[in-house]
Amino acid sequence: MSKRKRETVCVQGGWQPVKGEPRVLPIYQSTTFKYDTSEQMARLFDLEDSGYFYTRLQNPTNDAVAAKITELEGGAAGMLTSSGQAANFYAIFNIASAGDHIVSAVTLYGGTYNLFAVTMKKLGIDFTFVDPDAPEEEIQQAFRPNTKAVFGETIANPALTVLDIEKFAKIAHKNGVPLIVDNTFPTPINCRPLEWGADIVTHSTTKYMDGHATNVGGAIVDSGNFDWETHADKFPGLTTPDDSYHGLTYTKAFGKGAYITKATAQLMRDLGSIQAPMNAFLLNMGLETLHLRMPRHCENALKVAEYLNGHPKVAWVSYPGLKGDKYHALAQKYMPGGTCGVLTFGIRGGREESIRFMDSLRLAAIVTHVADARTCVLHPASHTHRQMTDKELMEAGVQPDLIGFSVGIENADDIIADIAQALG
Ligand code: PLP
Repeated sequence: MSKRKRETVCVQGGWQPVKGEPRVLPIYQSTTFKYDTSEQMARLFDLEDSGYFYTRLQNPTNDAVAAKITELEGGAAGMLTSSGQAANFYAIFNIASAGDHIVSAVTLYGGTYNLFAVTMKKLGIDFTFVDPDAPEEEIQQAFRPNTKAVFGETIANPALTVLDIEKFAKIAHKNGVPLIVDNTFPTPINCRPLEWGADIVTHSTTKYMDGHATNVGGAIVDSGNFDWETHADKFPGLTTPDDSYHGLTYTKAFGKGAYITKATAQLMRDLGSIQAPMNAFLLNMGLETLHLRMPRHCENALKVAEYLNGHPKVAWVSYPGLKGDKYHALAQKYMPGGTCGVLTFGIRGGREESIRFMDSLRLAAIVTHVADARTCVLHPASHTHRQMTDKELMEAGVQPDLIGFSVGIENADDIIADIAQALG
């Protein structure tokens, strides 16, 4: 069969029922799975057979949804996690440990920045943050002999910088490490980083993938393309025997599935950030309409960006889909069909005026969330990024007056009318 189009995968990917099975993905609401003999179960524990035994490691509902996201991203293997935070933590912790180092774009979601700069630092993993727009030679200087990966967000939240994926992939590969890209904002409907050279993709599925703000979740997809064996000295966890699995070597036993098998068998087993099967079911419902919602989010966001751009009370607007935006050319290259529904802007008068504007909105709700069917708004400097100093905020591309406006899929005229009355 030819490669299925994204729209078809959104609707029919993952769960493939056979004769007499439910057409709709069932929720395997069971912690455990039954076997006839002790030997059958023992083989699962040794990773000699594949199968389910305990939902903390794997569950059929979750696996079906992970398979759908993997197909959407064009990857070789994937897994769900309990949140986007868990996805980014696992994606790095799977190949880095105390004493190692990561190069990351500085423009990141505030929670990810905190995870990297504070929590993972406590675990002994050091990060060097680089300007994503810096020339290759400057980024190269951030590498050390113990660097294990490069990380960036396709469209950064909330700086809305667009990652030059090919540039970052080239630098990562030159240094013998994989590029990990958080593809939450564009989703694979608008961009597939693996096609541009990224090796691993992560998601906060809490955002557009679920799309309805009903459940927190995450996903990791591996392209299967990074050759761990060629850089075996850097990645002993994948290329040398794992004592906790009787000396099994992931790259030898699982080939293109090595990275995800290790993350499942080791990290899920030990850290247990599994997505609840019920949440995976809800996520799947969201994915079934992702291809319909994303174009509408982008269409509405562009109308809102154009309206704000011409408004005398608006100091600045940032939206990579907008002509004249600093990242428009990169956005055209990597996501010609549309970017995302999130845009940022500032009101003339600064921080206080921006907050007053937000408080005057009626249709757009103040929530700690973006990328939802309902239009919502937040002020990162007061909310998601409040742990950062002003200097850190500016480095992360977050101006103090920045309003994050997540355009939903309502009628654009109503959204614009709400903005107009609040500006008034
Ligand atoms: N990555 C990005 C780009 C995000 O915007 C977020 C949350 O907003 C996360 C990761 C963290 O995801 P979660 O809230 O699902 O843990």
